[in-house]
Amino acid sequence: MSKTLSKVKTEGEMKKKRKVVPLDAMWKEDDAPLTHVDLEDLMPMPEPFEERPFTPLKTDVREKFEASLDGTLAVGIPKPKDKEEERKLIEKFLSGLEKLFQEENNWTFLQPLLLSMEHCARCQTCSDACHIFEASGYNELYRPTYRSEILRRLYYKYVKKGGLLSAFRAGEIKLNWKLIARLAELSYRCNLCRRCAQTCPMGVDNGLIAHELRKLFSQEMGIAAKEIHDKGSMLQLKVGSSTGMNPEVVKDNIQFIDEDTSEKTGLKIETPWDKAGAEVLLIHNAGEIMSWPENVGAFAVILTAAGVSWTMSSEIAAYDGINYGLWYDDFQLARVALLHAQAAKKLGVKKIVIGECGHANKALAVIADRVLAGELNVRRESAMTLLEDIVMSERLKLDPSRNDFPVTLHDPCNLVRLMGVVEPQRRILRKIAPKFREMEPHGVYNYCCGGGSGFAIMSGHNFMDWRSHVSGRKKLQQILNAFSDCKGPQTPKYVCAPCSNCKGQIRDMLAYYGMWEKERILYGGLVELIVNAMVDVKPGFIEWEWH
Ligand code: SF4
Ligand code: SF4
Repeated sequence: MSKTLSKVKTEGEMKKKRKVVPLDAMWKEDDAPLTHVDLEDLMPMPEPFEERPFTPLKTDVREKFEASLDGTLAVGIPKPKDKEEERKLIEKFLSGLEKLFQEENNWTFLQPLLLSMEHCARCQTCSDACHIFEASGYNELYRPTYRSEILRRLYYKYVKKGGLLSAFRAGEIKLNWKLIARLAELSYRCNLCRRCAQTCPMGVDNGLIAHELRKLFSQEMGIAAKEIHDKGSMLQLKVGSSTGMNPEVVKDNIQFIDEDTSEKTGLKIETPWDKAGAEVLLIHNAGEIMSWPENVGAFAVILTAAGVSWTMSSEIAAYDGINYGLWYDDFQLARVALLHAQAAKKLGVKKIVIGECGHANKALAVIADRVLAGELNVRRESAMTLLEDIVMSERLKLDPSRNDFPVTLHDPCNLVRLMGVVEPQRRILRKIAPKFREMEPHGVYNYCCGGGSGFAIMSGHNFMDWRSHVSGRKKLQQILNAFSDCKGPQTPKYVCAPCSNCKGQIRDMLAYYGMWEKERILYGGLVELIVNAMVDVKPGFIEWEWH
């Protein structure tokens, strides 16, 4: 079954037909989902987009897991065995709720959380900013304030202990296991992109609220998406990388990448390991090493050709910039950030440079400031600014005509809106890509790729369908619009996404909707475009093959 819904509905029509989910449905004691996104609800898309069906959850999955939110599973919380287990889970939730609002237990975000609890004017300005709310056809469940209202009511009732006054001030709430289970799933229907927070006149941050909920569930109840916890930060702390690579394996892989890159470029490339006193410790998202070795190779080419003194570290976690704790657990974030800083300190490097990975940049360069005190507060910098210095100072000989194809730029939320690294990558593209065009809107007003906050690596059950139909929809619309003047497979096109997670999501979206075959849209990083333009490199560094 396939169906094109292009240009069928106006925004006004979509809003009129939107699905309403009253807040009190959240504590309904039954297993039926509160809502479901149907194909006819979804935001229209430009041609040649074709709709795909939604996979329903299997009966045995519904029986085993709490799936009564929206018929989709991101976390997959097992149903409690009996009432006693339910009671214990509710107690744990209440204890976590209390801790969330205590200074000694929430040393990271208490102040903005309190502000967000107490100052919402309920004006709904934030709602129009949310790509998930819009793409879903303005389904009430995905309104940025929906989960916030639930937490706000719980806060007034159980933390501020307002009694009847709390119901009067904030609204009624009934705490039961169904509410908790639905709220946990709902905290994973937000990309934490904070586009909504940017528009709020009161400074309320609904993205932060979703984050704090995830934190409560993880830190207090052991509930988290397995891809970011068990297979993510836990694996990274144990073996060194969430990819599963230990130091020996990563060195082997990099050696292979060096050989391949040398052959491909005609330059002698050898990645330095554990070089004491180097200027730069380069930390990639290790997913690049596994999935996009050309990105890792391109970094090595640029740093070598520009004469930068650099190194990688083979210490546990120091060769993997991933820090999934950013999305769900402050303790996990702190543990990984400490390993990164300790490795830099041990080598005595001047600074850490974080590769093309938005969340790794924000975790280490910004949020880790709360953790890295004293001598561990090593200088940290995004690769974007280092690359800008290299390209703009003419340290590389570049021929932009080698990039003579349409290029657009995706702004990773963590790097751009949430860190303010907006222009360096653009200045580079304006210099090396003559057919560069912006998406609209862009910069700090960008839309999330739909893979933010861990979604890019989460595909269990039917979540891949949800993140393709809903969270990634706006970005795909933007990509297709950016290339509307060169439609068709006869023109190869390039989406530059300088972030590993965004790249993964964009790859999955393009593949899910067949956009390589239909439109020849390829995706990749920024460094590949730079190397592709280097005169001293054999032509054709970017290979126009789907991967
Ligand atoms: S979060 Fe801000 S923008 Fe949204 S309803 Fe509340 S006050 Fe308005
Ligand atoms: S943080 Fe992003 S995804 Fe989450 S509610 Fe706000 S705009 Fe929507």
